[in-house]
Amino acid sequence: MLKITNLHASVDGNEILRGLNLTVNAGEVHAIMGPNGSGKSTLAQVLAGRDNYHVTAGEVLYQGRDLLPLAPEERAREGVFLAFQYPVEIPGVSNVYLLKAAVNNVRKHRGLPELDAMEFLKLIKQKMKQMQMSDELLYRSVNEGFSGGEKKRNEVLQMALLEPKLAILDETDSGLDIDALQLVAQGINALRSPERAMIMVTHYQRLLDYVVPDFVHVLSQGRIVKTGGKELALELEERGYGWLEEAPARQA
Ligand code: ADP
Ligand code: MG
Ligand code: MG
Repeated sequence: MLKITNLHASVDGNEILRGLNLTVNAGEVHAIMGPNGSGKSTLAQVLAGRDNYHVTAGEVLYQGRDLLPLAPEERAREGVFLAFQYPVEIPGVSNVYLLKAAVNNVRKHRGLPELDAMEFLKLIKQKMKQMQMSDELLYRSVNEGFSGGEKKRNEVLQMALLEPKLAILDETDSGLDIDALQLVAQGINALRSPERAMIMVTHYQRLLDYVVPDFVHVLSQGRIVKTGGKELALELEERGYGWLEEAPARQA
């Protein structure tokens, strides 16, 4: 599904990713943990193809093809989805309008018939009910005035509607209370499938109690310095990151 080799990327001339390697197969859920500023969001943004993030070396293969030349919209059409750490507000564009356009764009690309307004509303209302989201959020501007938890749920709703092949969730657990966290986790778990891969960026072990990852990676100073199973997250919770952060410096 995804093979990242020796990835180097810069933001504003500062090298943030420094030789990152990661392989993700279909069906797997990978958690990426690591201290603040280690490059987790940068990795997510680079995979989504956002402006300002410049790949200076290395390779990213998605389904065997070079991902890097593709524009963000092309990546999305090909099934790459990013849930942002800080979801963007889009004043003047209603949530339902954006979601319908996004879903029909992907459906068209997959050779499926577009959904009309009625069909789409039926689908989205059912998914919103599962996430315990109020219908009223459909008719508000995208994320505008949404609470932190509503924004995060809206990201998971988008993911559920788009049915991506590779989903990258950047701190989708942050700012959620326990009830909202469980709903978000249920939403994520419902999308686990042998055809789909997920990368979950998280600061805390808590989400991983509910969405149990196949692999846990620690990112430090722009590269993965340790990989383990779900038990690694527990060890990190106990010991922090300090014992790992020194490793790359010594290697260098
Ligand atoms: P994380 O998500 O792991 O907390 P980030 O990927 O957001 O880390 O940030 C990694 C580093 O890149 C930080 O030192 C941060 O200050 C820097 N950085 C991120 N975005 C920008 C930007 N737009 N301009 C300059 N520096 C940035
Ligand atoms: Mg952070
Ligand atoms: Mg981040």
